[in-house]
Amino acid sequence: MPNAAHFHHDLALLDWHLELGADEAIGEAPINRYNLEAAAPKPVAQPKVAPQPAAPITPSPKVFDSTPIAQACTSLEALRAAMEGFDHCALKQGARNTVFCDGHPSARVMIIGEAPGREEDREGRPFIGRAGQLLDKMFAAIGLSRHEEAAESALYITNLLPWRPPQNRDPLPEETTLMKPFLLRHIELAQPDFIITMGNASTKTLRDTTQGITKMRGQWGEVLGLPSIPLFHPAYLLRSPEKKREAWADLLSLKARLEGQANG
Ligand code: URA
Repeated sequence: MPNAAHFHHDLALLDWHLELGADEAIGEAPINRYNLEAAAPKPVAQPKVAPQPAAPITPSPKVFDSTPIAQACTSLEALRAAMEGFDHCALKQGARNTVFCDGHPSARVMIIGEAPGREEDREGRPFIGRAGQLLDKMFAAIGLSRHEEAAESALYITNLLPWRPPQNRDPLPEETTLMKPFLLRHIELAQPDFIITMGNASTKTLRDTTQGITKMRGQWGEVLGLPSIPLFHPAYLLRSPEKKREAWADLLSLKARLEGQANG
């Protein structure tokens, strides 16, 4: 019979596992990692076989082209519905929600992150976990907010991928290729004045570069003809607070552009 003490102990243990990122069951039975030898199956002697010639390399299957579906959307609501109904990305099967956007669709500044994490997947909104709280503070420091009604000081936020990758792993190239047409259409429909690519994944994808964020941050360029600047991802800034100084310089560069003084 379970008692209250066990219940609270087990709940705390579960929370601790979630904190560590162990949020998926990968086997039916627990594994005693302190005694793997005893648990390991005894090796079975293999009959000797002649080495086989290497299998021919088969090209990876062509990624589904989502461009026609994305381009057929003539409003943000139509795009949201098209993405919610899109079944060609395996990530969707493991996700609780399609995370489409947050903030004001007419904002001058559109922020593009990587992919939802655990909190975002649960709530269906981008950047609401710890990284999102830092993002809000960063932009509040230059007078911008996702809760603002006036387009001049509002933010519009989305991600490269609308579904959470398992264990928050990096997006795979085929996932990025599959979902990029939706993101491009999202930008075309929102028509912001400035695009912020947050971190490596969205910067590489939208700026068509193999250079990482450490090289790219602060470098103005264009995305679909709109001025765009890459910033360090707030999750990275939480791990490397000494980089906040560079992020602040990039935010000031954005502020200057918003106020009509081109720099950088
Ligand atoms: N990181 C992102 O890139 N996007 C989110 O929505 C949350 C965390």
